[in-house]
Amino acid sequence: MGQFLMSTRIYTGEASLEEIEHLGLKRAYIICDPFMEKCGRAGELAAMLNGAGAETRIFSEVVPDPSIEVVAKAIQGMKEFEPDGIIALGGGSAIDTAKAAGHLYGSMNGEGRPLLAAVPTTSGTGSEVTSFAVISDTKAQAKYALRDQALVPDAAFLDPRLTASVPPAITADTGMDVLTHGLEAYVSAKADDFTDACAEKAIRLVWEYLERAVLDGSDMEAREHMHNASCLAGMAFSNALLGIVHSLAHKTGAVFDTGHIPHGCANAIYLPYVIQYNAKVCEDRFAMIARKLGLPGVTDKALTLSLIKAVEDLRTSLHIVSNLKEFGVKEDEFLEKKHMIAERAVGDACTGSNPRETSVEDMEKILECIY
Ligand code: NAD
Repeated sequence: MGQFLMSTRIYTGEASLEEIEHLGLKRAYIICDPFMEKCGRAGELAAMLNGAGAETRIFSEVVPDPSIEVVAKAIQGMKEFEPDGIIALGGGSAIDTAKAAGHLYGSMNGEGRPLLAAVPTTSGTGSEVTSFAVISDTKAQAKYALRDQALVPDAAFLDPRLTASVPPAITADTGMDVLTHGLEAYVSAKADDFTDACAEKAIRLVWEYLERAVLDGSDMEAREHMHNASCLAGMAFSNALLGIVHSLAHKTGAVFDTGHIPHGCANAIYLPYVIQYNAKVCEDRFAMIARKLGLPGVTDKALTLSLIKAVEDLRTSLHIVSNLKEFGVKEDEFLEKKHMIAERAVGDACTGSNPRETSVEDMEKILECIY
């Protein structure tokens, strides 16, 4: 039996954020990162909610790849404020903090989670509709993908105006995250006709609009389609799950002395190598996508090679590095940590749905290519 779950009410298009006034909240707890407060977005949202009769409190301590400590602080703020609604304003880091903190707060107070609304300001993670929250354990230098249907937000406001200020490099990284979600969901061991529909559309939209959004951040047509693509890819992978590009990105994101590797950048580096690895068992699926994108080739093999080259070319045109060495990871450190990363990646929640069964040895070989 198959099952496709989508329980988030989604508002789309320019000015859709204004609908947030109709949530009927009395005490809204806004979760964001310091940038969203500094640039005035969090204040504007609070003013909008105040105008609709809600008291508000802003928690602006979210960090990229949110840690357990940040989640604990957000819960403490909720205990003091006792919100009837939580609004996550930001990229995946703010949304995941709100999802994890809201869920735990709801379990602790015995009354369940307050209403959770997500207002994504990057077009990347699709977290506004997914059952995942990725939380980091900074001491263990590890990221964990938590998954529970109870984490899914109740409402999502996909207002592309909020993404106009995203700088080109972040637009590029987050856009490659969308592409990776689409492709991993499409070849996932759990893919079906419903997840394929969402994944295919998301991939086509990225193909058509990502470069435009990076070149000109004020191109609202491109921004709107990328925002929708991100959400569609989220619907696909929340149901079909992901694969080992994400297993590797989760386990390398916080582990090197170079510091945090942005999630989308890590995915962009690893994706071509993992397509090559997975093609052994699902070349026909990659070929199908290549055909839909109009890439050259007649045989499945030629089409898959075209897809790999096209992903690499897209990554280059977006000025994203092509391996970990170029990112600045030192060879000694890489060799020292390779086995540990491979072991952790095999144990990641995303590995189970990868189309090709993998092992620590295979993961180490992929890591060598990625370096
Ligand atoms: P992010 O939320 O970490 O934000 C990246 C940077 O972009 C930050 O510095 C932020 O301040 C800035 N930013 C955000 N919106 C902006 C705007 N409108 N204008 C200017 N700057 C802006 O990045 P992200 O890629 O959206 O999220 C990454 C996190 O999401 C990672 O922790 C990743 O593991 C997680 N993730 C979660 C899911 C899920 O389903 N829950 C899926 C994929 C990834």
